[in-house]
Amino acid sequence: AKQGGRNQVCFFTREMNREALDLLQLDSSLRNALQAGDFELHYQPKLQCGRGAVCGFEALLRMRAADGSLVPPDRFIGLAERTGTIVSIGQWVMLEACTQAQRWREAGHDISIAVNVSARQFRVGNFVDEVAGVLARSGLPADALELELTESLLVEDPEAMVEKLKALKALGVHIALDDFGTGYSSLGYLARFPIDALKIDRSFVAHLGRDTHSTQLISAIIDLGRRLRMRLVAEGVETPTQREFLERAHCDELQGFLIGRPLPAEEAARCLSAAVSA
Ligand code: C2E
Ligand code: CA
Ligand code: CA
Ligand code: CA
Repeated sequence: AKQGGRNQVCFFTREMNREALDLLQLDSSLRNALQAGDFELHYQPKLQCGRGAVCGFEALLRMRAADGSLVPPDRFIGLAERTGTIVSIGQWVMLEACTQAQRWREAGHDISIAVNVSARQFRVGNFVDEVAGVLARSGLPADALELELTESLLVEDPEAMVEKLKALKALGVHIALDDFGTGYSSLGYLARFPIDALKIDRSFVAHLGRDTHSTQLISAIIDLGRRLRMRLVAEGVETPTQREFLERAHCDELQGFLIGRPLPAEEAARCLSAAVSA
């Protein structure tokens, strides 16, 4: 047994080295991509239900591969989280997204920009200063920036997270809880954290009208958010039926392929120009 144990240790060590090496190589390719300008942001519109107009965009990260194809974020964000490279990538995303949003604002479009923030990036000591710095450099007004956080981020060390959220709120930025309903949701968090908006996860939206439980659940989430004076954003809206239901339920904002797919800035802006020339 002892012998087997020692062999196992050898085996694991070798495997771990191999894995660490792979990780290191993949991570350095991410860092190179960042240096080389191979990351780009696509922008997905958000429709404000009451006005029936685009009120903002969510910035979504993509990596341009050597063959010209686009690598989706799910393929590299987990890795970047593990190695910590997400912190540098996240800084780039924030500055790029705010700069683009400010360009649109200066062209006369009263839009906001939503940026996804990973747990690791949020936990960095000077995150609040980072955000303040990006606002100063881009010229974007704080209340035109919405940070999308996930519930999992708030579970660890909630006291410290509340303080950080309060500091961000003091800057004037908005906080949205992403993928709401899928995570750790202790409802107690909702009351304690200064959250402005709930993004209803697209898994609920996908089942709208098909099963009564999801339909009831969405209605309950909207009601809950409303009572807590939060804005309700539905993601993954793909069909007119889903849109009609969400509008009837007084959801505030809609996002999804029906409204618009994530597109490079120039193409994304086409849904704005119509409004201004009118
Ligand atoms: P998310 O924040 O929940 O973003 C929504 C995802 O759903 C996006 O995938 C978007 O393209 C997709 N989507 C939007 N509308 C629809 C729809 O109607 N139907 C369907 N089936 N999908 C829709 P994407 O761009 O591949 O991003 C995946 C995830 O990667 C994001 O999920 C987010 O968690 C993460 N991510 C993206 N950009 C960043 C970033 O800059 N920083 C960090 N930390 N994470 C990011
Ligand atoms: Ca998001
Ligand atoms: Ca989401
Ligand atoms: Ca998601």
